[in-house]
Amino acid sequence: MSERTQVAIIGAGPAGLVLSHLLHLQGIESVILESRSRDYVEKRIRAGMLEQRVVDLLISTGVGERLKREAMVHTGLNFQFEGERHRIPLEELTPGRNVTIYGQQEVVKDLIAARLAAGGVIRFEAAGQSVQGLDGLRPVVRYTESGELKELVADHIAGCDGFHGVCRGAVANSKVYEKVYPFAWLGILAQVAPSCEELIYARHERGFALHTMRTPKLTRLYLQCPVEDRVEQWSDDRIWSELSARLNIPGWSLKDGPIVDKGITEMRSFVHTPMQQGRLYLAGDSAHIVPPTGAKGMNLAIADSMVLAQALAEYYKSGSSEPLLRYAADCLPRVWRAQHFSWWWTTLFHRFEDADAQFQEQLQVSQLRYMLASRPALTSMAENYVGLDRVV
Ligand SMILES: Cc1cc2nc3c(=O)[nH]c(=O)nc-3n(C[C@H](O)[C@H](O)[C@H](O)COP(=O)(O)OP(=O)(O)OC[C@H]3O[C@@H](n4cnc5c(N)ncnc54)[C@H](O)[C@@H]3O)c2cc1C
Repeated sequence: MSERTQVAIIGAGPAGLVLSHLLHLQGIESVILESRSRDYVEKRIRAGMLEQRVVDLLISTGVGERLKREAMVHTGLNFQFEGERHRIPLEELTPGRNVTIYGQQEVVKDLIAARLAAGGVIRFEAAGQSVQGLDGLRPVVRYTESGELKELVADHIAGCDGFHGVCRGAVANSKVYEKVYPFAWLGILAQVAPSCEELIYARHERGFALHTMRTPKLTRLYLQCPVEDRVEQWSDDRIWSELSARLNIPGWSLKDGPIVDKGITEMRSFVHTPMQQGRLYLAGDSAHIVPPTGAKGMNLAIADSMVLAQALAEYYKSGSSEPLLRYAADCLPRVWRAQHFSWWWTTLFHRFEDADAQFQEQLQVSQLRYMLASRPALTSMAENYVGLDRVV
């Protein structure tokens, strides 16, 4: 027996959960299939910086109560090079706008709680195997749950299953734009209060380092490392000593504490087009990946879902497929703006070791100095960092 719903959503990450939540507010039914357990997705440590428009969305749609209480609003950030730290006043440069620190796992927890409280259906440990019939009126998801193969029939399918999901492979005639960076990030979560109230992006001759945080008691730190490095090569002592070497400046030193999470992430820029095929729509990391330097991944995933929810609402209200047919075209300008910003921000701070390395270093320093001297240049950076309302 097949189950039926209006919108089948594969993946309970930020993209899938926001989509399901927004559809519910429009009276549209959905079922989310998630291959992992609830406990796993609620504890998965990933992103932590929300753009203003995402915060506004979560609050205005009723899932921002805890965020309002617990999140940390940042009105500026720091960048550091040639041994000096400079504070960039984001809010002053982009009047009334700022960024908010609130862990992705907290966003996910709040959305899961809201969906379940509203009677929403999320099937955890239900892994999508294939999507079929995409060019017809009743596409089908085949998935496994408790060892059994099952079917979910829908009017539309949202592929919110991340970079390693099954949906992207179902899109025919695809074109991929990709850049893989010659370095990785070693990221840690440490039980220690942040050493600085705001983020520090450090360009250093030993490689890039980032000081950020998740809560007033949890610091998140990243180090540029070789792609081939394994976590086992990085003892806690080695991590703290390398972080201090790259982040410390006279009069300021990094506080250390117990490391509770440690991982290495590859750095990639990736866009898959088209983002749709018949009645399948890709949203979030299933369609695009940015290097985490610009903190855009979760924000972009949620931006796609906002566009898709609006298009589906129009479809169910007026019967018009126009907004759905335009879905990818409506998403891609924002995707490419975030791609450019994330690539640029990455190349500005990381150490390169190829033939152009010395040339690149001079360009980095020149651009960083120029931004400090030019308010328009700094404003351009700031408006991309806090997130643009409209992208053309
Ligand atoms: C170390 C790190 C730091 C980051 N920092 C930031 C940051 O500061 N700011 C920012 O905006 N972004 C950041 N990102 C990126 C951000 O985490 C992702 O862009 C975001 O998770 C994308 O959300 P999503 O819903 O598209 O995909 P995901 O969060 O990957 O969700 C996809 C879901 O689908 C499930 N799934 C996969 N396959 C199947 C299947 N076959 N069937 C059913 N379910 C399936 C997965 O289990 C997962 O729950 C960071 C990422 C990393 C790795």
